[in-house]
Amino acid sequence: QENNFQAIISHAKEYGFVFPSSEIYDGLSAVYDYGPYGSELKKNIRDYWWKSMTQLSDNIVGIDAAIFMHPTTWKASGHVDSFSDPMIDNKDSKKRYRVDHLFEAHADKLTEAGRQAEADALLKTMDELLAKEDYIGLKQLLDDNKIVCSISKTANWTDIRQFNLMFDTQLGSVSEEANTIYLRPETAQGIFVNFLNVQKTARMKVPFGIAQTGKAFRNEIVARQFIFRMREFEQMEMQFFCRPGTELEWYEKWKQTRLEWHLSLGTPKEKLRFHDHVKLAHYANAAVDIEFDFPFGFKELEGIHSRTDFDLKRHQEFSGKKISYFDTEINQHYIPFVVETSIGLDRMFLAILSNSYEEETLQKEDGTKDSRIVLHISPKISPVKLAIFPLTKKDGLPDLAAEIFNDCRKNFKCFYEEKDAIGKRYRRQDAIGTPFCITIDHQSKEDGTVTLRHRDSMQQERINIKDLKNIIQSFI
Ligand code: ATP
Repeated sequence: QENNFQAIISHAKEYGFVFPSSEIYDGLSAVYDYGPYGSELKKNIRDYWWKSMTQLSDNIVGIDAAIFMHPTTWKASGHVDSFSDPMIDNKDSKKRYRVDHLFEAHADKLTEAGRQAEADALLKTMDELLAKEDYIGLKQLLDDNKIVCSISKTANWTDIRQFNLMFDTQLGSVSEEANTIYLRPETAQGIFVNFLNVQKTARMKVPFGIAQTGKAFRNEIVARQFIFRMREFEQMEMQFFCRPGTELEWYEKWKQTRLEWHLSLGTPKEKLRFHDHVKLAHYANAAVDIEFDFPFGFKELEGIHSRTDFDLKRHQEFSGKKISYFDTEINQHYIPFVVETSIGLDRMFLAILSNSYEEETLQKEDGTKDSRIVLHISPKISPVKLAIFPLTKKDGLPDLAAEIFNDCRKNFKCFYEEKDAIGKRYRRQDAIGTPFCITIDHQSKEDGTVTLRHRDSMQQERINIKDLKNIIQSFI
């Protein structure tokens, strides 16, 4: 699986999906850029999420809040005081690690060695110690299990300390304490502070949701596994506001809705699972992760949290402004409860890429073998929907092909190419996940038909040019 992961990373770079940031300067750790096909795929995933939330769901509207927020926001949310992870330095390698990641890596090794029960017990003890913030106990557990760092293979550790994950910067030119502001570590707070603005201006009635996509920043210490954990990433979050006491019903509903969303993109059921949080955050009364089977195992892809009225209450307290809702049905004022769905766009991109990547061996008609790399991306989100190829550069075939191209590109993303043999052109489209190709040949000029080739089955069929748009549209 690890080999497969390396192959996916190389493929992503070779075909213009993901590049290391500032690569000519040897890159910047845990920061990535998206290339031509990557930015299309990312945009399509974002649009698909946005549409499912703000167009296909009842009572959800979107906002686009700023990355910078008033610094008191992060005091109210708890990020200034507690958005820190326990860290430890290895004295020999001088590398800093998140303590929970060291335990997780060790538990993975135990699992691989068939010692599952031991792995589970270790993580359970770790969770308990983390919850109590018992760092002396954690350090002891680390020593008792002889957990080493992957670089120097020694267990020569410092004490465990807290490290805040928020990036800060200075507002204006004077660098005083009061001017310190933060790059948001999550998009959710922009939704909470706008609760009343949105509720009033969009005339929303509880229950309703507010959706937002946008960049978030975390100074992650252990940045690893390609775009799985980045320092600059994008989130797609929705906060659903409901009447107190109904939140667990909505929580169950959103669990199912979000699972179905993943299935609708062709992600197989067996690659997804729910993982209930053992240790709940102080503000939550229920929390679950949707985990995906990444090339390095099942890991969190999305979080669904019942956050109670914690955030709105805290903003009311810190701002001194009343944040309450009058429910005309029951004639009561209250602070709504919140169910949140939160997914990383980049992590979803990685899930799609790793699920769709295949190195396929093909049996040729003459009995010999051939191979291709294909991305089985759902047509709903594939970067290109249709590739259009004239069979040759002669006899007016490019003119007819260009005519079809110019017509179809108004409706969906198309790609035109007349260079190289048809087989080669098909392979290049397979590699970027284009679900359909058409070839225009001499017969096309006579009877108005073209060959439509399907990416996954590689089946070809003869169709009428006038039906083409409808056929493609029905898949996307
Ligand atoms: P993890 O345990 O993996 O650090 P988290 O529990 O801190 O994640 P949340 O704060 O719940 O994550 O954020 C919601 C979603 O945002 C996650 O499910 C994940 O998809 C995404 N996400 C969080 N941190 C990162 C990151 N550093 N890089 C990319 N995506 C991230």
